[in-house]
Amino acid sequence: MTTDRNGGDTADETRDGVSERRRPDGGAVHAGESGERHPGEDGLEAVPDEALETFTDAFRGAVILPGDERYDDARAVWNGMIDRYPAMIARCTGVADVRTAVAFARERDLLVAVRGGGHNVAGHATCNGGIVVDLSELNWVDVDPEARIARVGGGATWGDVDHETQAFDLATPAGVVSTTGVAGLTLGGGYGYLRREHGLTCDNLRSVDVVTADGRYLTASETEHEELFWALRGGGGNFGIVTAFEYELHPVGPEVATVETWHSIDDAKAVARGWRDFVMTAPTEVSAELVFWSVPDVPDFPEELRKQPVAIVAAVHSGDVDAGERALEPLRELGTPIFDLSGPTRYVELQQDFDPFFPAGELRYYVTSIFLEGLTDEAIDAVVARAKSRPHYRVLVDVWHLGGAIADVSDEATAYSGREHPFLLAIDATWEEPADDDRVVEWSRSFREELRDFSPGGRYLNFPGFGEEAEDPLRTTHSAETYERLVDVKTEYDPENLFRLNQNVEPRE
Ligand code: FAD
Repeated sequence: MTTDRNGGDTADETRDGVSERRRPDGGAVHAGESGERHPGEDGLEAVPDEALETFTDAFRGAVILPGDERYDDARAVWNGMIDRYPAMIARCTGVADVRTAVAFARERDLLVAVRGGGHNVAGHATCNGGIVVDLSELNWVDVDPEARIARVGGGATWGDVDHETQAFDLATPAGVVSTTGVAGLTLGGGYGYLRREHGLTCDNLRSVDVVTADGRYLTASETEHEELFWALRGGGGNFGIVTAFEYELHPVGPEVATVETWHSIDDAKAVARGWRDFVMTAPTEVSAELVFWSVPDVPDFPEELRKQPVAIVAAVHSGDVDAGERALEPLRELGTPIFDLSGPTRYVELQQDFDPFFPAGELRYYVTSIFLEGLTDEAIDAVVARAKSRPHYRVLVDVWHLGGAIADVSDEATAYSGREHPFLLAIDATWEEPADDDRVVEWSRSFREELRDFSPGGRYLNFPGFGEEAEDPLRTTHSAETYERLVDVKTEYDPENLFRLNQNVEPRE
């Protein structure tokens, strides 16, 4: 079992204890008809019934307590390993609810988990015994096609955003799985298919509306609360609860040129070298990945090939489709693929291509990463050797080519660190059985460590592991100067560390 610093365990631990509480409608919630005790319910022990009633009177959204029939669904997050029992899930309908929930938690010193899309692998969107401020109903998206701006609620997913923006052939750089939350992804940086032309997701932010730990409702931008705005672009959920993001949009689609060739793992070294040579001089419209995976065990693929290890050359050209097809052609000529799924694709569909392979709640996940300073032949050999010994056919290893617009932004402009690194290797470990937990997680960690010889240090903080290494990922990713600046902003906006279920930056004493 693995334990994170503040939120609880990543395995099936439950909490005991009972105190009869009241539903918002006045009915008993915990003793219930069966007198059954519900894990999590002791978390509100210190809260008098009148205080809870005052809260539910002021709060417009659903207040879901242990024993409620919605509780098990509401406490589940994307990673099926996470099994936690909050004392209360407060499903906010707007800024007023967020402020009410923050005040309630602060005044009663409750552990606070903030839930955007719920995709954080360590399960930071839930907790044991505290309050989940659930933003999933803040999933509105308003597009101004003339101004090329989208305002997006703090609980929206990328599927919500793409749906609205692509109606106008516009997009902002997003993640590559549409069920991922806008909030966590943006606050940690944001890698997607548009990254080399349009930058990280956080680079496209114009402003952010945020409720801070003391209950203030602020807008942070280049001209207001500038340091807070700096910190929110890469510093994660440390500084407050974002209720709205405002993004710049770019003309994209409706179709984009793509390459997706699947090669036998026996050809992986040669294909990887060819992919590396191509990307080193590729135009910024091209964002490419090199993926080591297995043929999925689904009917779309020939039965005899399913679960066979493969190396996948993948790339998207974000500009004109014909120009994109021409620019990407050399990638299609690398080796002799088993499948060639390349061709123009509707951007909105491309954004959902991976969704079926990363379902919420059903599977077990561990995600970690390491920046690479180059992709030498030796580094490729090390990666391919590991790609051949993956501990489960679902484990995916992904080399992201970075640079382009990401590297054009100065390091000091935002709190995201690692702009100068040309590649990131991500290990997206996915498996089914609890019995495999230790084996798969250990394999992933040791793989990452083995690549340190090829790394300048640091990782993408949205592919972080379980938080088991405490401050180390933050300290090795950020420069000392950036880290101290984050501590300054944290100390100013959240001096009591109310928002600590995240890649936590601790405030000064
Ligand atoms: P949550 O678990 O809800 O939140 C993550 C963190 O942000 C938590 O600490 C939470 O408390 C905090 N938070 C959430 N909402 C708010 C808010 N409104 N205000 C303040 N803090 C908040 N990353 C990429 O860059 N590119 C990808 O293509 C990509 N693909 C992914 C695919 C999958 C299947 C998964 C699981 C993850 C992927 N990620 C990707 C990583 C992703 O960016 C992180 O997991 C991110 O934390 C998810 O955000 P979320 O809102 O869904 O998560």
